[in-house]
Amino acid sequence: MSSVIADNYHAICERIADACARVGRDPAEVTIVAVSKTVGVEEVAQAIRSGMHDFGENRTAMFNAKREAFPDERWHFIGSIQTNKIKDFVGRAALVHSVASERALRGIAKRAQMLGLSQKVLLEVNVSGEQSKDGIAPNALPTLLECASELEGIEVKGLMTMAPQGNADSARATFRALRKLRERFAASGGATGRIQLRELSMGMSEDYPLAVEEGATIVRIGRSIWA
Ligand SMILES: *Cc1c(COP(=O)(O)O)cnc(C)c1O
Repeated sequence: MSSVIADNYHAICERIADACARVGRDPAEVTIVAVSKTVGVEEVAQAIRSGMHDFGENRTAMFNAKREAFPDERWHFIGSIQTNKIKDFVGRAALVHSVASERALRGIAKRAQMLGLSQKVLLEVNVSGEQSKDGIAPNALPTLLECASELEGIEVKGLMTMAPQGNADSARATFRALRKLRERFAASGGATGRIQLRELSMGMSEDYPLAVEEGATIVRIGRSIWA
């Protein structure tokens, strides 16, 4: 069955495959998270029929409403983290992309311990230094990783960033810098196994082919899927 959403999805898969081919990567290394924050359950249902199974939401209420509607899919929490909302996604999110403070990290760990589980998270880094962006400064990463390595209930799977919009060169520089950070800190965390920086969540509708060329393992795409 053809639909706008299916057509868009296939076009995105092709662009990702092309980007991979340019740099010798395997497209199977790249997961598309469909960011569904601007659409309803009808569109999500169509996306599932088109082959998408990872979805992202940035508000806990919508995260839970849609996750309950489609419990068999993987739901990612990608929004900024308020301490009083942590209980709404810990143990439910396949991956939390947006951990940007020690306070959030400790809150997630505490909740995870209470539930007797371990929560997979990414640390959000504000590589470009834009004031408007969430995320820790790159030089704060070692401290946050050290904190994470001591927290039961936390598994750090990688890093996330948002690039400046409207400028391909600075977007690419941002993605490249995040990859360099991963390389530099990949071995931190020692033997606890709580830190394994494999994932790079970077690239949105405007810039995902660049992000894939620079090593993204997860792209978070909204508008290009639904438009
Ligand atoms: C909305 C959002 C996206 C998707 O952005 P598009 O430009 O619609 O592709 C990706 N990541 C985060 C954190 C978002 O909030």
